[in-house]
Amino acid sequence: MTTAYRVLVICGTTDFNAEPNGVDRELLTLARLRAGLGQGGTQLGVLTFAQASDGVAQFYAKQGAARVFAPAQSLVDALPAAHVNLAVQAINDFGPDLVLAPHDTDSVELMGRIAVRLANSELGSRSVGVVTGAHDVDESLNIRKNVLAGEYDSTVRVQGLPLVTLRPNSVDTAAAPAAAGEGMLTSYTLPGYDAVRMTEVTEKPRSTRPNLEEASIVVAAGRGIGGDLTPIESLADALGAAIGSTRAVTDAGWLDHSTQIGQTGKSVSPELYVSAGISGALQQKVGMDTSKTIVAINKDADAPVFEIADFGIVGDLFTVIPQAVQEIQRRKEN
Ligand SMILES: Cc1cc2nc3c(=O)[nH]c(=O)nc-3n(C[C@H](O)[C@H](O)[C@H](O)COP(=O)(O)OP(=O)(O)OC[C@H]3O[C@@H](n4cnc5c(N)ncnc54)[C@H](O)[C@@H]3O)c2cc1C
Repeated sequence: MTTAYRVLVICGTTDFNAEPNGVDRELLTLARLRAGLGQGGTQLGVLTFAQASDGVAQFYAKQGAARVFAPAQSLVDALPAAHVNLAVQAINDFGPDLVLAPHDTDSVELMGRIAVRLANSELGSRSVGVVTGAHDVDESLNIRKNVLAGEYDSTVRVQGLPLVTLRPNSVDTAAAPAAAGEGMLTSYTLPGYDAVRMTEVTEKPRSTRPNLEEASIVVAAGRGIGGDLTPIESLADALGAAIGSTRAVTDAGWLDHSTQIGQTGKSVSPELYVSAGISGALQQKVGMDTSKTIVAINKDADAPVFEIADFGIVGDLFTVIPQAVQEIQRRKEN
């Protein structure tokens, strides 16, 4: 018989008239497996930042939650400290063996803050470990994650309470179907939670270009552009492409970090990847070498990028790209 653990899942679903959102479905599936639901286990808890209500509790009860923890107030405009306070209280009340959250920027920050609070708790120091970007937690609570740009799969074991963020598309949601739980609701009133609130959030202006990770054509700029984006933008306009970049470019502040492709940036796999003024370092390559067709423009014939290029052009990008744009325009017009 497999061991059943007490598992607390931090869920982000906000629409309680539908199904849990995609990544929550995966988290809840993994939690049901590790909590032994369907085999007599009842040890699944859910922490939500949605305001406590019977509806929310019933929603998670249908997912197998024995306990549901939620704030008495809305935390929509609250600062992260309020979420941390809530999570620490829920963990102290529920006493989980494992805490799961989605792998996103907010949850990674949250898990780090929770760990610091638990390790320095007035209730006594506690051994905890944060593991981010996992793709599985097995029946012995071994945590698996890819490391070194996906080249290796590693197994991590936490001596103490594991706080784990799970990458999307890691869990087969058919592996543990939803099972009814008691859904006992615990709501917390957080003193001073609204002492400081966010009063305004301004979204960054959105680019009219395609989304980098979904685009079928990407034009990527390297240090060779020397800070002049004109050729890159004109080629991207001509091809209807998204603009990507290397770390040299984002470090120089020529383009935003959100355009960076590679080990510490985004992974892309477009039909066509145009690499301009990029040397082809390993850390850049791991983010784009699954592109279907790679065209490289570099004035150094020995640049490593030519090793992975389907078409290589040895030349100055400030000469090559305007010619390419002119030819693309000519063909579009004919
Ligand atoms: C832990 C770690 C993580 C990293 N993560 C990333 C990452 O996510 N993404 C990433 O990109 N890098 C990453 N890097 C950095 C990476 O190692 C390289 O330093 C970086 O990719 C180099 O960028 P580049 O090709 O633009 O610049 P360079 O290596 O300086 O290459 C510039 C190229 O432009 C060519 N060139 C110059 N002028 C012209 C011209 N006029 N026309 C045509 N060609 C020209 C040159 O011949 C040269 O080959 C990481 C490094 C580390 C250590």
